[in-house]
Amino acid sequence: MLQQTRVDQALPYYDRFMKRFPSLCALAEAGLDDVLKHWEGLGYYRRARFLHETAKRLAEVNDPSLEHLDGCPGIGPYTRAAIGSIVWGAALPVVDGNVNRVMARMLALPVAPVSTEGRRAVLEQLEKWIPAEAAGDWNQGIMELGATVCTPAAPKCGACPWSAWCKARAEGTQDRFPIVPPKPERPHKHGAAAVIRRKDGRVLVAQRPDGGLLANLWEFPGGLLEPGEDFSAGCARAVEAQVGLAIETSEEWVQVRHAFSHFSLTLHVFCATKVIGRPRARLCQAWKWLPEGELRTLAFPRAHWPVLEKIEQAAK
Ligand code: SF4
Repeated sequence: MLQQTRVDQALPYYDRFMKRFPSLCALAEAGLDDVLKHWEGLGYYRRARFLHETAKRLAEVNDPSLEHLDGCPGIGPYTRAAIGSIVWGAALPVVDGNVNRVMARMLALPVAPVSTEGRRAVLEQLEKWIPAEAAGDWNQGIMELGATVCTPAAPKCGACPWSAWCKARAEGTQDRFPIVPPKPERPHKHGAAAVIRRKDGRVLVAQRPDGGLLANLWEFPGGLLEPGEDFSAGCARAVEAQVGLAIETSEEWVQVRHAFSHFSLTLHVFCATKVIGRPRARLCQAWKWLPEGELRTLAFPRAHWPVLEKIEQAAK
């Protein structure tokens, strides 16, 4: 949960998740929809799918160890080192954004710590320093140091246990580190979705494919628009492409802005005023007609939450 997410943001999700899945086996035995529902809102849903898959694999092993983690989905160097050191005491340094900042200042690192050269320099130094007898505590200590003392702005060097060895502090250059490479510009995209109702009031939802962005989550039918495409016509086109229905729409009902890691999105939401045909799973893996009151039982991407709220308000 803490990959790309701050502790204070993740904590309520963590508590809810652990209450529902208090053990590896509880998580392994759960259905994916249930896991995604308890991850809903945290973003980067691939992490939830990988965590679930890894739990299933480890639950089959009698006495899991570090080697059983290798090859499990979502277990890269960071997660491997974090689990390995904290659970089994392996002397593997954990490198996250906080650790990079501390190390860049400790070493007055002349390159970005996220560059190949910077990564190597940070890791080599950490491998020399990490104590074999308390690797997990040490890793957590540096991460905490970065989160609470060696903060991005105004590091509290007077309270830092490493200040005597810190090059940047000795030079008075703390604010110059870490070196940050220029960020590529994030493109902006438009998408459209439709609230499609059946005569009995049920609403159509579609489940996204089992791979790619927001995999397996449920949404109001639609999709991304072509550059310059008319929002309403694009909505009808995207709905037909995804669930095979021809629709006509009212005026735009809700507009949502949302930022993903690689692009930002404006989602234009319409109500279908005319619907022709029967739903088919074309660019989705499944669809359902659901009573309004049951929509919240499914996991929706955050960009669709305002639509759920608007439906609930309209029902009052
Ligand atoms: S002395 Fe200051 S700059 Fe250096 S690691 Fe500690 S808090 Fe960070």
